[in-house]
Amino acid sequence: MTDGDDLRRKPPHIALFPSAGMGHLTPFLRLAAMLASRSCTITLITANPTISAAESTHISAFFSAYPRINRLEFETIPYSPTNPTTDDPFFLQFEAINRSVHLLRPLLSSLSPPLSAVVSDFAVAASFGPIANDLSQYPLRFFNPNHLFASILLSNARFFPKAKGLLLNTFDRFESETIDALNNGRVLSCLPPVHPIGPLEPSELEKGHPSELEKGHRLPWLDDQNVGSVVYISFGSRTAMSKDQIRELGNGLEISGCAFLWVLKISKVDTEDNEELQEVLEESFLEKTKNRGIVVKEWVKQEEILAHPAIGGFVSHCGWNSVMEVAQHGVPVLAWPQHGDQRVNAEVVERAGLGVWVRSGVGEREVSEREEIGEKVREMMSDRELRNRAKEVGEEAREGMGVEWELGEGVDGTY
Ligand code: UDP
Ligand code: UDP
Repeated sequence: MTDGDDLRRKPPHIALFPSAGMGHLTPFLRLAAMLASRSCTITLITANPTISAAESTHISAFFSAYPRINRLEFETIPYSPTNPTTDDPFFLQFEAINRSVHLLRPLLSSLSPPLSAVVSDFAVAASFGPIANDLSQYPLRFFNPNHLFASILLSNARFFPKAKGLLLNTFDRFESETIDALNNGRVLSCLPPVHPIGPLEPSELEKGHPSELEKGHRLPWLDDQNVGSVVYISFGSRTAMSKDQIRELGNGLEISGCAFLWVLKISKVDTEDNEELQEVLEESFLEKTKNRGIVVKEWVKQEEILAHPAIGGFVSHCGWNSVMEVAQHGVPVLAWPQHGDQRVNAEVVERAGLGVWVRSGVGEREVSEREEIGEKVREMMSDRELRNRAKEVGEEAREGMGVEWELGEGVDGTY
C-alpha cells in the first residue's frame, strides 16, 4: 500500500464495487465518472454474473463511454441455498458477492498503482437514526435474524467501525437532522465520518442523444406537452405490480384527466419480461388515452425525463436514486412506496416538503382503487404550495451538487 506522503503527491487510485441491481449500479457509475473527471485513477469492479439485462447493457456502455476507467471483472461463486429465506434474485446475488469477497483481496492487492481506497455499498438508508423508534416503517425482515436480508445488513454494519468514511447519496439540507445525528455519535458511537455527497451528477450515459440503452426515445412527445402538465409514473428498475393494480392505476390516470408518461414493469427481472403492452393493459384504456398519455415498457432515461419542463409530478415508489433525482429537479412527488426502504424514503420525501405520502391510501392496500389514484394524482398536479416547496428543494439539491468534498480525509493508504 502507498503511504500518506505518496498519496499527497499522486492522484489516488480508487476501486468502486457496487452490489447487485440498477439501483446500486447507477450511483456507482456516477461516482466513478465524477472521480475520474477529478484526476483519480478508477477501477470499477463488476460482479459476474449480473442479474438484469439493464445492468449488463449499462456496464458495457459505460466502459465504452469512459475508456480510461479500468474494469475488474469478478466471478462470484454460485450460490443456491437449499432452503432460501428469499427468492429475490438480487438479494441472492448480494449474498453470493458476500460469500465470494475473500477472493477479491488478492486481485486488489495486485492492482497497479496500489489502491488508496475501496468504496463499496452498504446500502443502508441514511434516515435510520432519528425515526428509528417508529418501527412500523421498517420491513419486518430487518428484525428477523434468520432472514438473509438481516444477516447481510448485520455483516455490513459490523464493518462500519473499520471503514474510513461513509459516503451517503444525500445532501445536507434534505436530511440535516439525520446527517448531524450520524456524525455526532447519536446513532452509533463507532461510525466513521459521514459525507453527504449527493445528489450525484448524471453520467454521460444518462444525458444526450438516445443510445442503444433507450430504444423508445420519448422526449419528442414530451416536447409537445405544456409546461408542468405531465405526470411521470415509474416504480424503478425492479418493482412489478400485480395485474389488478396495473389496471386500477391505468384507470386512475384516466380519471385524473392529466397527461402522463408511464413506465410499466411487469417482472422483477427484465429478462423475464415476455409480455406485450396489449396483453397487460386493456385495449380500451390504450385507445381512450392515446392522445393524452404514453405507456412504455422499455428502459427510459429517467434523468432526462425528470429534467424535462413538461413534467409536473412524479408518482414514485421512492427508491432512493429516484428520490435524489427528483429532488434535484424539484418536481413534486406522490409517494407510493412498495417494499424495502421505500416507506422510510417516502417519509423523508414528505418531511422535506418534496412530496405527499398518503399513508393509509395509495399503495397501502393490496390493490388501490382507480378513484383514489385519480384524485391523488390530480391533487398533486394542482397543488401550488407543493410545487413551490419542491422547487426550493431543487435549488437546495443543486447547491448540494456544487459542494466539493474532501476524499483525502481519512484515506491513509489502507483498505
Ligand atoms: N431507471 C431509469 N430508467 C428506467 C427505470 C429506472 O433510468 O426505465 C433508473 C432510475 O433513474 C434510478 C434507477 O434506475 O436511477 C432506479 O433506482 P431506484 O433506487 O429509484 O429504484 P430501484 O430500481 O432500486 O427500486
Ligand atoms: N439493502 C441493504 N443491504 C444490502 C441489500 C439491501 O441495506 O446488502 C437495503 C437496500 O438498500 C434497501 C433495502 O435494503 O434499503 C431494500 O433493498 P432493495 O434491494 O429491495 O432496494 P433497492 O436496492 O431496490 O433500493
